[in-house]
Amino acid sequence: MQDLDLKYILHTYNRNYTHFTKGKNATLFDTNNNDYIDFSSGIGVCSVGHGNKKLLKAITNQSKNLIHTSNLYFIEPQAKLAQKLVELSGYDMRVFFSNSGAEANECAIKIARKFGNGRYEIITLDSSFHGRTIATLKATAQEKMHKHFNPFPDGFIYAKDLDDIYNKITNKTCAIMLELIQGEGGISPLDKNKILKLEKFLKQKNILLIVDEVQSGIYRSGELFASQLYKINPDIITTAKGLGGGVPIGATLTRLKDIFSFGDHGSTFGGNFLSTSAALEVLGILENIHKNKKLEKTMLYFNNKLEQIQRKYKNIFLQKVGLGLMLGLRLKDDEILKNLLENTHKQRVLILKSGKSTARFLPPLTISKKEIDEGFNRLERAVATL
Ligand code: PLP
Repeated sequence: MQDLDLKYILHTYNRNYTHFTKGKNATLFDTNNNDYIDFSSGIGVCSVGHGNKKLLKAITNQSKNLIHTSNLYFIEPQAKLAQKLVELSGYDMRVFFSNSGAEANECAIKIARKFGNGRYEIITLDSSFHGRTIATLKATAQEKMHKHFNPFPDGFIYAKDLDDIYNKITNKTCAIMLELIQGEGGISPLDKNKILKLEKFLKQKNILLIVDEVQSGIYRSGELFASQLYKINPDIITTAKGLGGGVPIGATLTRLKDIFSFGDHGSTFGGNFLSTSAALEVLGILENIHKNKKLEKTMLYFNNKLEQIQRKYKNIFLQKVGLGLMLGLRLKDDEILKNLLENTHKQRVLILKSGKSTARFLPPLTISKKEIDEGFNRLERAVATL
């Protein structure tokens, strides 16, 4: 298995060779039927867990009829999904569907450039992550990731933090793009008052606010979009990961409803029958657990558990960070994090890394109390052997 992978797949991932073959909610099983508690959900993707029967039914039923016809024709679940995203968010917007977070951000960048009408600079924040395409990689303010890939498109400017954005604005600025909770940059939620102040300032200056909710969106913060928690009205919101529950889909929502004319943008696969049917079902499931407060209870329970372990092992975990089910534990350095990741895998609980020294937790939003308890027992055993 490993030989095959190493021989035929480009070596872009430093993979672990555990071979998962099936899953049930927040539990994965390998070839030997060992169970793993999944606190990572495929990097924030499997929002309704693994093997979700309702999602399976939605995908199966749709696939029996049609998977794809192209955007040359009307796609009913696409229109319904756009309606649902708009209605659940409460934002008066229209939607463009694509296949990934990077693509959703590419669309946002194109909207901002067209809106700018000659103004083309987009300011992003240090430690941000916006994708791996050439433009979104340049938007990602982590210079170490740019090595080897020059030249990049012009017009991406980096600010150290929210305060520094004001220093970086010029008469060429068309937009600010940021994550309210930096997913790859250490799970740090931005300051609410500063965001509100910035939003007001940008409106006065006719500069767009793009919120990248590829990771924080789809109820991971507790609301459909973290923007709702922050009580802001962005001009553009991008999302992907959790939307399809594992079926690839990205979405760009904008209040600039008529920014594009025919031919300005497009996608072969984006918003096809399969992915939008899956996403409609995912949103239905999540809307339900949001409404009946189950999600809130799960978030509270998980957060309490994380706080307890942080307090108990203060010498290892400096701080608990994040919100909702987008959480992290800050460690002293990357060496301890490396050891923790090895130990947790041995104890069969899956967690992630964020930034240099943060352990990241993105469990399925449907995770059960029993799975949380078991996951934390395993995490504690992993910590004890550090
Ligand atoms: N934006 C954010 C905030 C992300 O976390 C990610 C992926 O981790 C992306 C964009 C890129 O998404 P994708 O890998 O689906 O292209």
